[in-house]
Amino acid sequence: MARFFFGSNFKMHQTPDETKQFIDNLSQLLPAQLCSESFENRRIATQLFLIPPFTSLTQANDSLANSSIWLGAQNMHWASQGTHTGEISPKMLKAVGVDLVMLGHAERRNQFGETDKILRKKVNAAAEHGLRILLCVGENAEQRSNQIAAETVAIQLKIALADLNDEYLPYTMIAYEPVWSIGEGGSPAEPEIVANMHDVIRDSLVGQFGDRARGMPILYGGSVNPTNCATYAVLPQVDGLFVGRAAWSPEGFVEVLRRGIEAKENL
Ligand code: PEP
Repeated sequence: MARFFFGSNFKMHQTPDETKQFIDNLSQLLPAQLCSESFENRRIATQLFLIPPFTSLTQANDSLANSSIWLGAQNMHWASQGTHTGEISPKMLKAVGVDLVMLGHAERRNQFGETDKILRKKVNAAAEHGLRILLCVGENAEQRSNQIAAETVAIQLKIALADLNDEYLPYTMIAYEPVWSIGEGGSPAEPEIVANMHDVIRDSLVGQFGDRARGMPILYGGSVNPTNCATYAVLPQVDGLFVGRAAWSPEGFVEVLRRGIEAKENL
């Protein structure tokens, strides 16, 4: 059965009350539009995930009780505890019900100096603690104009995943998020670029891990919205969408999701 992964990163937005409101409203909308009989009969198996800020995780975990939606964290330290003031450990994330940790978002790399070597430690720590991994990779505008986009993402993958035991591949997803396409001022990537870069990522993963890497989901993220989501969802290389701004309202989340699934289904 075809799979479709769909999630949102809320960045530094939402208080715990706002997260509760979001999930309550989303739950109202989801059964109507996605859990109807016709949806269940559809051919696409969909996995949703939400990545709110740390302070909303406990509330989100409560609100998502009995739900199959994965709860994600936006970052973590690699140590399970220690003298790292201001940091959050994998053990702490597990304790509040987190399923998945996003690592290497472009804003972490650019604003907080997160390197591929640091990400390697975080990837290994996530695996040791049994957290699913969503590793973000992507080139910036300069790298693209210098025609080293493929090399850039291959290096990011090779270093960050260097020590990952291939037993953990089924719990690891990649998000291709070109830096020039995400957030305010970002422009959506041409579908041809997305298809090509997803092929580059797949080839790099297979080169690193062999055929076992063929099943790893590769998601696209960067200025995805209700108007353009179908053009990405139909690409055979795209296993899902990772959405920021357009999915920050429950209505927006459901609309992008619905259009994405319908496009994939109508292939
Ligand atoms: C992001 O920052 O990861 C992202 C996908 O944002 P947006 O959809 O708002 O471009």
